[in-house]
Amino acid sequence: MRSVGLDVGGTKVLGVLIDPRDPATVLAEDRVPTPEGGEGLVEVLLDLARSIAPDADAIGVGVPGLIDRNGTLSMGPHLRRMQDVPIAALLAERSRVPCIVDNDANCHAEAEHTAGAASGIDEVLVVTLGTGIGAGIITSGRLLHGAHGFAGEPGHMVVDPNGPPCPCGKRGCWEQFASGSGLGRLARDAASGGRLDAAVALAGGDPEAVRGEHVTASARAGDRESQAVLDELAHWIALGLANLVNVLDPAVIVIGGGLVEAADLLLPEVRRHFAGLVMAWDQRPPVPIDPRRLGDRAGAIGAALLAAQVR
Ligand SMILES: [Zn+2]
Repeated sequence: MRSVGLDVGGTKVLGVLIDPRDPATVLAEDRVPTPEGGEGLVEVLLDLARSIAPDADAIGVGVPGLIDRNGTLSMGPHLRRMQDVPIAALLAERSRVPCIVDNDANCHAEAEHTAGAASGIDEVLVVTLGTGIGAGIITSGRLLHGAHGFAGEPGHMVVDPNGPPCPCGKRGCWEQFASGSGLGRLARDAASGGRLDAAVALAGGDPEAVRGEHVTASARAGDRESQAVLDELAHWIALGLANLVNVLDPAVIVIGGGLVEAADLLLPEVRRHFAGLVMAWDQRPPVPIDPRRLGDRAGAIGAALLAAQVR
């Protein structure tokens, strides 16, 4: 069996071909730009799938946003023109093979659960810390979709009702503090307060131009102020993870997304804060927090795996 998985990101769509019996081995891959606002997305997905494998048996698509159980996009930040479009049904009609569309972090979780950092574990929380925050929850060995398909959006748990505004319309969502863009905001706050000179120098001397990568580079070089900003980020990450563990009781947490590039700096601090935030830490088995194993193809691999399951 040959299954194509397509991962729709903010700037590009990554496609892979796998045999679901050996999902970690990518047989072919290609990528195309994400169309502006999602205009013509179904055609773009179909063309990419055909160019990767004209004879695919199934097509899966991972999309950021809320996807209902029928594969219709209810809300997607990068894909405004696709709102309320039944993407899965249109793709299936055109391709004449089974198609699924699921949330991109759900696809990540499926891949890491099947062939990555949580292989063989039935209770798993996968959290992607990128520009925003996504999550996929595996319970009893299966993805949790909720009543409408919208489960697993902890990035919009409010952790500070007076916090900064979020594109979702609320204030103080977790992803405003604990994501890549959260790191950028923490860094600019520190830089405009006169801290973070080393990172500001890397950004060309402009405090407003400081980004997460400048902070991680100067922290890695031993700069204490940059390390303090990363520690603040680690505390926010740990706070949200502890809240989720109190609700879900996973056996393991797997971290994906762009911030995983700084896992060596961040995860030891996240684990330290986490231990002080989870309920009854001393009276429960430890919950490991591990980086993803499948890299940035995880979303596409997971989409292909989910598509293979509907046959
Ligand atoms: Zn929000």
